[in-house]
Amino acid sequence: MGPGTGERLLRRLRGILFLAAVAVAWPLVAGWDAAVPLAVASPMVAVGSLVAAPAARWTIAIGLGILVWALWRRRAFCRHVCPVGVLQGACRGRWNHRRGAVARAALKWPIGSWIFLLTLGGALVGYPLFLWLDPLALFGAALNAWRGPVTLCAFVAGIALPAVLLLEMFEPRLWCMRFCPLGAMQDWAFSLARRIGWPFAARAAGRPGPAAIAKDGVGRRTFIGVGIGAAWGAVARASHADARGAIRPPGSVDEDRFTGLCIRCGNCIRACPPQILRQDTLQHGWAGLLAPVASFDSGYCREDCHRCTEVCPSGAIERLGLPEKRRVVMGIARIDESTCLLATGGECTACITQCPYEALAVAESPDGFSSRPRLSLDKCTGCGACEAACPVRPVRAIRVFAPDGGEQGRLQEAV
Ligand code: SF4
Ligand code: SF4
Repeated sequence: MGPGTGERLLRRLRGILFLAAVAVAWPLVAGWDAAVPLAVASPMVAVGSLVAAPAARWTIAIGLGILVWALWRRRAFCRHVCPVGVLQGACRGRWNHRRGAVARAALKWPIGSWIFLLTLGGALVGYPLFLWLDPLALFGAALNAWRGPVTLCAFVAGIALPAVLLLEMFEPRLWCMRFCPLGAMQDWAFSLARRIGWPFAARAAGRPGPAAIAKDGVGRRTFIGVGIGAAWGAVARASHADARGAIRPPGSVDEDRFTGLCIRCGNCIRACPPQILRQDTLQHGWAGLLAPVASFDSGYCREDCHRCTEVCPSGAIERLGLPEKRRVVMGIARIDESTCLLATGGECTACITQCPYEALAVAESPDGFSSRPRLSLDKCTGCGACEAACPVRPVRAIRVFAPDGGEQGRLQEAV
């Protein structure tokens, strides 16, 4: 007997939602980038970012609304909306229909639940530890990764989704049941709602859902997981001095929270018109791996642009209007007078003419016989226009460093 009309309609709806998710994550129209990125639909991203960076953002309402729906219809989000879930449905059990010993053992361990609880605990102290493992973040990161040149970073960012799908081919539903932190979060929230007697959850308890649901409940594990997560998050924040020196997109939260809040979705990198954002390697410490950093080799942060501040789903970059963004300090320029062409008797004024904030001017050297560029620190935003314009090679005579300076900044200051 074929599927009924209701089931056929649901299948069509799933297909439409999946295509919409792909269109948002990977717009086919050149130059169009969705201002509301896909990961805002994730309840885990909404709760994690709301707890860790409680600034008012209307996009959080989308994830919270979906969470309420998940309480009413258990795991309905997983079955009908999550694009990873839809892809998994297409791959499910293609190569294997019997569980192996490893899968049977893994089913006993609620890994996703621990990931979620640790993340929630970390969020309480401003550092949601594993927000980047959210499936919508993995989906967006995978699509974004293959849009540019294939680098090691792109490969690392893009490999997680294929790995989840491969797992689904061998071990059906193992990811959803035991590894996915977003699925575990829905189960946890459902369990909590039932415990406090929320009427939706009480009614939904009678409906079919994943077998493992709400078994663990909200109890000792929650307190242990959240407690360890909070301690871990606090240590992570305190120890991220090694990430100093990275120039983050304008509007980014402080560095000690940024690497926890950024879910590595790549939306800001994709949205940047002059393409000055790229994924960080281990250059600024392991915590910053794949997070966005700015470099000014061939472009600068344009004074007429605030795109990256509009597309961050996690609050790692705060939403800024253009006038506010123009006042944000991304970094500080520093001049090396020993290599600057103007300061060494040449005729170059490239940095002075390119600075959109008029932070550079020609000044007389102390001897009165030569000139040099003078920087007004109160006007410099670290946009990088000067560095991009400087013709000196291989190391430019004017460079931008992170506001905290980092090791390189301190060295440069001493020149
Ligand atoms: S504001 Fe600057 S860093 Fe952000 S997208 Fe625009 S040019 Fe790129
Ligand atoms: S900072 Fe960029 S990569 Fe990180 S979550 Fe925001 S948009 Fe995504």
